[in-house]
Amino acid sequence: MNKRTKIQVASPIFIGNENKYLTECIESGWISSNGRFIKAFEEQFAEFCGTKHAITCSNGTAALHLALLVYGIGIGDEVIVPTLTYVASANAVTYCGAHPVFVDSEANTWNINPELIEAKITDKTKGIIVVHLYGHPVDMDAVNTIARKHNLVVIEDAAEAHGALYKGKIAGSLGDIATFSFYGNKIITTGEGGIVVTNDDEVAAKLRLLKGQGMSPTQRYWFPIVGYNYRMTNMQAAIGLAQIENIDWHLSKRKEVSRLYYQYLAPLSNYIELPVQEDWASHSFWMYTILLKSTVKMTRDEFMDALDNQGVETRPIFYPMHILPIYQEDTNSYPVANDVAARGFNLPTHGLLKEEDIAFIAKQIENICFKLSI
Ligand SMILES: *Cc1c(COP(=O)(O)O)cnc(C)c1O
Repeated sequence: MNKRTKIQVASPIFIGNENKYLTECIESGWISSNGRFIKAFEEQFAEFCGTKHAITCSNGTAALHLALLVYGIGIGDEVIVPTLTYVASANAVTYCGAHPVFVDSEANTWNINPELIEAKITDKTKGIIVVHLYGHPVDMDAVNTIARKHNLVVIEDAAEAHGALYKGKIAGSLGDIATFSFYGNKIITTGEGGIVVTNDDEVAAKLRLLKGQGMSPTQRYWFPIVGYNYRMTNMQAAIGLAQIENIDWHLSKRKEVSRLYYQYLAPLSNYIELPVQEDWASHSFWMYTILLKSTVKMTRDEFMDALDNQGVETRPIFYPMHILPIYQEDTNSYPVANDVAARGFNLPTHGLLKEEDIAFIAKQIENICFKLSI
C-alpha cells in the first residue's frame, strides 16, 4: 500500500504579508505590545465585524474573561453556558468566581437550545454566553429576547465563527459583546491571540484598562483598578493583520471545502448525518462535523481509528461540560449534547484541502461504512 502523508484536521495558512510584517517587527524592535500592527489589526477586525471597537488580547480565553469582567460578573453570580462547547467558555466564568450554569443543545445546530434557557435563570443569573459551535450561528433573536426580558448581558463566544452570518448579520455583532480566538487551528490565526468587539465606548475603554494591568491611559504607573496583563504582542498582530487582509479568501476556501464534503458524502446518508445549515444561517465551517448513525456497527472511536489508519486525522466532538469532573452534574439532563458528543467527530477542514483530498476522505469513510454492513 502506498503511504500517503496524513491529512491533518486543521492547518494554519500564510498566503499574505505574514512574513513581511513579522520581519518589520524584528527589524524595528517593536516586538511587545506597542507598535503599529496592534492598531491596524484592531481597526481592520472592527471593520470586518461592523463594530465600533476591537480590543486585542493574549488569547480567546482571556477575551472571554475580559468580556465577563467588564460587565461586572463576579463572585457568586451565575452565567448561562451551553454544555456542548470548548472548556474555555465555562472556565472564563469560573475565573470570575461565578458559576457556569449549563444548557443542553438543540438537535439541528448543536448550539444552546434557547427554549431551555429560561428554566435555568435564577436571581443570581447575570449573563448568557452563546457559542457559535464549529461555526454555525446561534438562533440569536430567541436568545436576545430572553436576555432583554431578564436584563442579562449576552456574550458571543465567536472563537469558531469568524465570518458566520445570522440572518445576514455577522457573528460578533449579534449580542452585547463578542470574543474571538486566533489560536493556530482557528479560521484565522495569530499563533495565540484573541479579540473583544463592542459598540460601546465606555466598555471599550474599560477593556483596555483591564487588559493593560489597569494602568491609567493618561498617567503612567498609576493603577486605578487591579488589571491583568492580557496584552497581544505586535508580532501576533502583524500575523493577524496579514490574515485579516485575506479573510475573504480564508472564508471562501472553507465554503468550498464544505460544499465538496456535502457533495461527496451525500450518498452515505444511510450511515452518517451531515451538518445541518439552518435557512437563516451562513455557517463558517471552522470544522466540518459528521455524526455516525446506528447503522454503523462500530463505535465512534473505532471509526476514527479506522480513518486514522488510512491517513485521515479527525477529532472527536468536545465532551459536554457536565461530563467533565471539574463541572460534573447530573448527566441525564443533557440528552442532545450527550448524543451528539457520543456520535460525532470533526473531519479535516482547512483551506489547503483539494478536491482530491475530500474525494479520498469520502472514499475512506465509504469503505469503512460498507465493510461494516456486509
Ligand atoms: C478556541 C476556543 C476558545 C479559546 O480560545 P484560546 O485562544 O485557545 O484561548 C474559546 N471558546 C471556544 C468555543 C473555542 O473554540
